[in-house]
Amino acid sequence: MKSVIAIAGAVAAGAALAVSAVPAGAAPAAHAPGGKGPTISKEAFGRLPDGTAVDRYTLANGRGARVRILTYGGIVQTLEVPDRHGRSGNVVLGFPTLQDYVDKNGGPYFGALIGRYANRIAKGRFTLDGKRYQLAVNNGPNSLHGGLKGFDKRVWRAEPVRTNGTVGLRLDYTSEDGEENYPGTLDTTVTYTLTGDNELRIGYRATTDKATVVNLTNHSYFNLAGEGTGDVYDHRLQLDASRYTPVDSTQIPTGALDPVKGTPFDFTRPRAIGERIRDNDPQLLIGHGYDHNFVLDQRRPGTLTRAARVTEPRTGRVLEVSTTQPGVQLYTANFLDGTLAGTSGRVYRQGDAFCLETQHFPDSPNHPAFPSTVLRPGETFEATTVYAFSTH
Ligand code: BGC
Repeated sequence: MKSVIAIAGAVAAGAALAVSAVPAGAAPAAHAPGGKGPTISKEAFGRLPDGTAVDRYTLANGRGARVRILTYGGIVQTLEVPDRHGRSGNVVLGFPTLQDYVDKNGGPYFGALIGRYANRIAKGRFTLDGKRYQLAVNNGPNSLHGGLKGFDKRVWRAEPVRTNGTVGLRLDYTSEDGEENYPGTLDTTVTYTLTGDNELRIGYRATTDKATVVNLTNHSYFNLAGEGTGDVYDHRLQLDASRYTPVDSTQIPTGALDPVKGTPFDFTRPRAIGERIRDNDPQLLIGHGYDHNFVLDQRRPGTLTRAARVTEPRTGRVLEVSTTQPGVQLYTANFLDGTLAGTSGRVYRQGDAFCLETQHFPDSPNHPAFPSTVLRPGETFEATTVYAFSTH
């Protein structure tokens, strides 16, 4: 499982920026003086119950885009991009405080980095090189998003980077051999880069000292009309996927790669997300809406290829997702039920966002026919996903 990553070399070569500490609560400047050029700033965001300090970095490109990233879980807390009138607005769901993330993000995983294994592994079990591994079961009978304390709940080491007019944040986390019962010490690097073209690029890299499995993603919940403005059912979605992986009643892939043609899963041409979400379709009933992995078309291993395009009619915002990964999970925030208040204080309800989690297929360790998620010593897992924002 090797895919080439465009950003990796640039990141390694990037020189660290001087980081100015901003007192907790102070709002870092959105733009450099004069509104030009990328900036990055750091502030204390709080402490975990065990005393570990968590920082928040604010990256701004001087062109209306700004992203706030926490060292806790590598969480994208806010992501502001312009609408068709040039007005910036936050387009991702999140919480205002660290305490909220600690107390409440175990269910939704707002904005978080997910590892070691994004999505589900059936019954939390897999066999690798003849050895059987049992992971924590934390989602019905299955293991979800890396187990009890996945990468979303770890504090990452952070280092600002800058390359060719972009600004970035490199995050590192070493997952010890046996953590969450996964084999091998996994050294993981995730680099967020904000470009001058309003792209958020995410580069993933991992190496191991024993054979293991790995599947990394980011779990941002998007609402292009603005966080907390209601449901996303009128957003128009195009997915470059003519097949998807249907699931059993516990949301584990059956192993089939079913054609989307003629089903509510057909987004090969732009369609409103809500157009068929209420169809009486057995797969939609299992997921309470869309919560499925799509098999991306026209993949060339290691090549960044478009996966999705989403447009929002009122603000004119457009999101294009490209990735080197073979799959993407479309999740329409089906399990948000009005019990969480977000960053701006508004309450989140079912359908208030969509996730496009680029990934390897769920439960791949138990499906030899799926693209492999096995990583061995001497190999490097590399992947890139780009979330590109524009307007129409
Ligand atoms: C899963 C959903 C889950 C959501 C939040 C998605 O990746 O597929 O089933 O509810 O993450 O945890």
